[in-house]
Amino acid sequence: MMEQGTATVVKHTGSHYLLSVLPEWAPFPAVIRGKLRLAGTKTTNPIAVGDRVEFEGETITKILPRKNYIIRRSTNLSRESHIIAANLDRVFLIVTIILPETKLAFVDRFLVTCEAYGIRPVILVNKIDLYTEPVLQEQLADFKALYRNAGYEVLEISARKGTGIAQVRALCRDGLTLFSGASGVGKSSLLKALDPTLNPKIGEISLSHLQGKHTTTFYEMHPLAGGGFVIDTPGIRGFGLVDIQPEELSTYFPEMLRVMDNCRFMPCTHTHEPGCAVKAALEAGTIAPERYNSYLGMLEEEKKYR
Ligand code: GDP
Ligand code: ZN
Repeated sequence: MMEQGTATVVKHTGSHYLLSVLPEWAPFPAVIRGKLRLAGTKTTNPIAVGDRVEFEGETITKILPRKNYIIRRSTNLSRESHIIAANLDRVFLIVTIILPETKLAFVDRFLVTCEAYGIRPVILVNKIDLYTEPVLQEQLADFKALYRNAGYEVLEISARKGTGIAQVRALCRDGLTLFSGASGVGKSSLLKALDPTLNPKIGEISLSHLQGKHTTTFYEMHPLAGGGFVIDTPGIRGFGLVDIQPEELSTYFPEMLRVMDNCRFMPCTHTHEPGCAVKAALEAGTIAPERYNSYLGMLEEEKKYR
């Protein structure tokens, strides 16, 4: 057993944490010393899975600065927030066209959160084995075009048939990947397809937490047999846009960021201002109305919290 050093938090169980000196997988328990908090954070949990910490024996003595993290409001109107995970190399947003249908507003909100925290999102459209009817194929094509044009990587996969799994496995090989998406999109199936040796309990936590309103949700990291580490998140109902100023919201839409330097006014909310490059792009069809409408919806919502 190591006396002291630097390790990564791989699990939080409520009373204690499990640490491992990655890439070695040998978790050991540790507790937090006193009121240890990372300066400037106001969250319900001081340490999240993925955090790099210093430890002495079984005590965590220091939290190292995070390169990024994902956060959400504990409840919709609360100002308190909850860190879901820290130090992520990428986030997979798993979506489905049907069973269940994924709402674009949810996707856009999620992507904005990733942008705001500087984490690369990759969209995985799962269950492509189901989209055989022409109308569904069309919906799939529209979805892909919408997000690829916005600047995102979109992969088509089938956890059930194994389609695209090798590609996903290769993406996961380096660093830490967060798996997220609504309940039922196939997160646990995908994890099992990637690595059949993963603890079968993965994904089961989702169910018990979906009901609970005040989520004392515990996240956990798992090593993948093919390399890399993953964090599975219980079906996320929505991310709060924590600490995003209305003026900066459009910078988290890559297709808006590309053109907004040409807006006549600075800052520009891209709503009523004359000479707005975003609205020009919208009219020209290079910015999708679906994305622009999501932007307007988020802008409105942000105002409510201020
Ligand atoms: P989770 O809630 O996101 O973890 O989703 P699950 O992995 O539990 O999957 C939900 C349901 O979708 C299960 O019945 C799976 O068998 C099914 N499912 C998962 N992946 C696929 C897929 O690629 N194709 C099809 N047709 N069904 C899938
Ligand atoms: Zn503008």
